[in-house]
Amino acid sequence: MRPANPFSGPPALGGPVRIDLHTHSTVSDGTLTPAQLVAHARERGLAALALTDHDHVGGLAEARREGERLGVEVVAGVELSAEDPEAGELHLLGYLFDEEDPALLARLEALRDARALRGARMVERLREAGLDVSLDEVVREVAPGASLGRPHVARVLVAKGHAASIEDAFDRWLGEGRPGHVPKERLAPEEAMGLIHAAGGVVSLAHPVTIRDEKQEALVRRLAALGLDGIEVVHSKHGPHERSRFGGWAKALGLVATGGSDFHGANKPDVELGDGKRGNVRVGPETLAALRQRLP
Ligand code: AMP
Ligand code: FE
Ligand code: FE
Ligand code: ZN
Repeated sequence: MRPANPFSGPPALGGPVRIDLHTHSTVSDGTLTPAQLVAHARERGLAALALTDHDHVGGLAEARREGERLGVEVVAGVELSAEDPEAGELHLLGYLFDEEDPALLARLEALRDARALRGARMVERLREAGLDVSLDEVVREVAPGASLGRPHVARVLVAKGHAASIEDAFDRWLGEGRPGHVPKERLAPEEAMGLIHAAGGVVSLAHPVTIRDEKQEALVRRLAALGLDGIEVVHSKHGPHERSRFGGWAKALGLVATGGSDFHGANKPDVELGDGKRGNVRVGPETLAALRQRLP
């Protein structure tokens, strides 16, 4: 056993204190329950964890209870999908908001309802493409009340032998332009940011690498002008080039350089909590402190 540190939680794997600000549980498309995720964070020696399920804050209470028991700080988080007319799809991470804000909760519920309908349409498309797959099978992969996402469909395709892995299921069936692809309902970036700000939180642009290269900088500038608080500089999909590119914009625009692994458990087997891909994610508690500084 490591000696207890009453101020900052256990040091990560014997090194400096580490946290993770981007994680998913079974409340969306991760494979660990919120309590299991927090227990895993404790095992990994993390001092704090933001649970950022897609369109859902329903896992936060369970995560926090477990966090209090195990000495891991649980930070309110959520990941929203937005559609920008110029840059296309982008993801926004909300942090440190009031997780009981009625307007936020109502909007999230509507987004989840749209996800459930989309799940049924994806299954229809896949059946039209000749695959033996049913909506029941997909729904069985989704925890009660959770956000249905493409990874749930991907798991069924793998189980039924239609794909070799989740990654392969996206490449062949579920990715953009593939037979089972159905677009998701997305908010305007202004609305997504407005929901989080109105609930008293802060917003960071998630994994900017997923936005088309030539659209990234203009988007970041536009969102910054609309009150964006941070940009995810450290992420398991970012290499040194992305980190320095996005880190430079954060500095120039006065945004917090945030970071997280985007851990999804067995749905992304090469991404580890608090560590990313082969150790490319290291985030310290100063990042969380900087986000708190941005709170109104
Ligand atoms: P959805 O929000 O339902 O469109 O699903 C998007 C989610 O699928 C992302 O949050 C990732 O968790 C996952 N995802 C997207 N692309 C891939 C991929 N190529 N391999 C594995 N998971 C993916
Ligand atoms: Fe996801
Ligand atoms: Fe994302
Ligand atoms: Zn994510």
